[in-house]
Amino acid sequence: MPDLPCSTCHRRAVVYQRYSGLHLCKTHFFADFEAKAKRAIRSHRWIVTGDRIGIFLDSGVSGNALLYFLKRLAGNRRDLELLAITIDEGRGGCQAPPAPADPDPTRGPGVVHISVSFREMFGLTMDEIVRLRGDPAACSCRDVLRRRCFTTLAREYGMTKIALASTLDDEAGAVLMAMIRGEAARLLWPPATFEGCIPRISPFRYIPAQEVALYATLQTGEAGDAQQRSPCTALEADLPTLLDEYTGHHPSAKYALVNIGDSIASFSSLPDPAVAACPSCGEPCITGCEGCRMVEELLHDR
Ligand SMILES: [Zn+2]
Ligand SMILES: [Zn+2]
Repeated sequence: MPDLPCSTCHRRAVVYQRYSGLHLCKTHFFADFEAKAKRAIRSHRWIVTGDRIGIFLDSGVSGNALLYFLKRLAGNRRDLELLAITIDEGRGGCQAPPAPADPDPTRGPGVVHISVSFREMFGLTMDEIVRLRGDPAACSCRDVLRRRCFTTLAREYGMTKIALASTLDDEAGAVLMAMIRGEAARLLWPPATFEGCIPRISPFRYIPAQEVALYATLQTGEAGDAQQRSPCTALEADLPTLLDEYTGHHPSAKYALVNIGDSIASFSSLPDPAVAACPSCGEPCITGCEGCRMVEELLHDR
């Protein structure tokens, strides 16, 4: 990026936001970033006194950025507890998330650390699931198993919220994907609006992935991609590129998609008594959980 001055204070800018037209220096970028995340938390009433928040650290840098941000937010508050969770899926070459760089944002007072693996939870690894099922079925199984880990650990540790580091790009992609696939249920029934389901919160929901990665790099010293998960299908692989190309000409497109998703969810007439959260994975379902049925078959066949 060329040496341009910050739109607010004239120090050197570290980022240019096309959607706002602003150049921001490090200080004003942090202030803008954290204000957006706090606004998302406030407007959705995502955090309340007494919350025990589980943060799932994924392979991208955004998990550590989220933990860093929530630690700053919690500060010296004694009414909030943070639990950092890593899941080792048992994949050759990319098992546990990378250890956070120094200074380690995930250690220190106030954060409980929990590590689990697919092997100990379910008795098999992702490598074995890929061998048994092939792609993309293995990928769908992975998502269900991760959700089962969330639900099991949340119950075991008394978590009241599950914090996900999904970014504007992830959320916009999910809305567009649901529309393209015609999956109205995903838009009408966002997780965590059901009895028995632990609410999911995503403070970075309105922040572009590129800015989440920059925040991670500048705050935790960790460089990398903010991407949460690898694509399962050709459509999932194509979608981010399609969305990025379109956003190149229409900078607010991703915000528009996320806002449509929010509006549709707010119009839905929940709680529909026919819909309940799956007791194993927490996904909304009517006549039994498809994902869990698939996983039960997998565990049976192994
Ligand atoms: Zn500035
Ligand atoms: Zn399920």
